[in-house]
Amino acid sequence: MNIIEVNASRRYDIFVEEGLLNRAGAYCAQVLRGKKVLLLTDETVGALYLNTVKQSLEASGFEVNPYTVAVGEDSKSTATYLQVVSYLAENHFTRSDAIVALGGGVVGDLGGFCAATYLRGIGFVQIPTTLLACVDSSVGGKTAVNLPEGKNLLGSFYQPWLVLCDPTALQTLPSEIYADGMAEVIKYGMIRDRTLFEALERGELTDTEIICRCVAIKRDIVEQDERDTGYRQLLNFGHTVGHAVEKCSDFSISHGSAVAIGMAVLTRALSAMGKTPAEECERLLALLAACGLPTTCDIAPQALYEVALSDKKRANDTLALITVPVIGEGGIETIAVTELARYIEMGAVK
Ligand code: NAD
Ligand code: MG
Repeated sequence: MNIIEVNASRRYDIFVEEGLLNRAGAYCAQVLRGKKVLLLTDETVGALYLNTVKQSLEASGFEVNPYTVAVGEDSKSTATYLQVVSYLAENHFTRSDAIVALGGGVVGDLGGFCAATYLRGIGFVQIPTTLLACVDSSVGGKTAVNLPEGKNLLGSFYQPWLVLCDPTALQTLPSEIYADGMAEVIKYGMIRDRTLFEALERGELTDTEIICRCVAIKRDIVEQDERDTGYRQLLNFGHTVGHAVEKCSDFSISHGSAVAIGMAVLTRALSAMGKTPAEECERLLALLAACGLPTTCDIAPQALYEVALSDKKRANDTLALITVPVIGEGGIETIAVTELARYIEMGAVK
């Protein structure tokens, strides 16, 4: 069994092992005080795994209330949020009861925010079922729903009681959703772990190994900067340009693909500026391509820059840009926002 201990504002463990879905109840019983749980999932994940987890929880003495939301980002809405917390109230959930979020980042973020706010905080367990949720969204305690004005605008830092990752669940993921998660996996290798990057190049890691190594990296970063005021920005490698790509494409380009393009743009720019060897850049592009991820898009650099700028300009005239001059050694550079144009121009391929 792989156990990754997290020491944030709450101490908790992340367990990673094949078959954990069948044993979820026993693990939850060790950390939850009450016997009542809301088992939150989406329609796709519910059809695949709800019964397994429900039966396991019931076998450990829990009273399980399943709650299924529609698939997709639209469920991270204030409307769904209010429906879930109203359901908790109608069913007399108390502070010792809990939400168990079974699914990808959408269900995890929604469930986490409901748990953080209902009665000022109830128990919360994450059972991530996408690669992205295993390596990224279930680690670090960020929970949120979206507002019409933008993504993740209503949220809270709220660490779970427990995270259970069962890599066998990833076997039912469509390949493009698995690839989305791989963009974040490659990001971890780029910013912090050259040996992880090289093992990915050789394709020699199991999903369990990938998850354990990525979770440990994110854990280390989050423990140093839980509230995202500085060092945690390292995790944003590829994301400033990536978010612009998502927006310019009207979200037809997925987050993972957009982050892949963002990492590629920045690294090509660094290479053109002579700040990173061309060979390092080629290795990133090759690994992204091998994982089924894009490294270019046909959005004009000027359009990307304008959207990225409108995101950043509110704060001040500088921005923290994450660059990786050597694979495994990401750094935070403060640049003038106008300087971002040069990076995008130099790194984009038209
Ligand atoms: P998602 O939850 O929408 O899942 C993607 C798709 O995969 C869905 O259609 C889902 O039904 C399906 N699915 C999930 N598990 C499956 C399985 N095992 N087999 C088959 N299908 C399965 O999306 P996601 O990519 O997991 O997460 C994206 C969300 O995560 C975004 O809302 C993003 O803002 C959020 N996020 C949060 C953090 C954080 O720190 N909290 C970090 C990164 C991303
Ligand atoms: Mg991301």
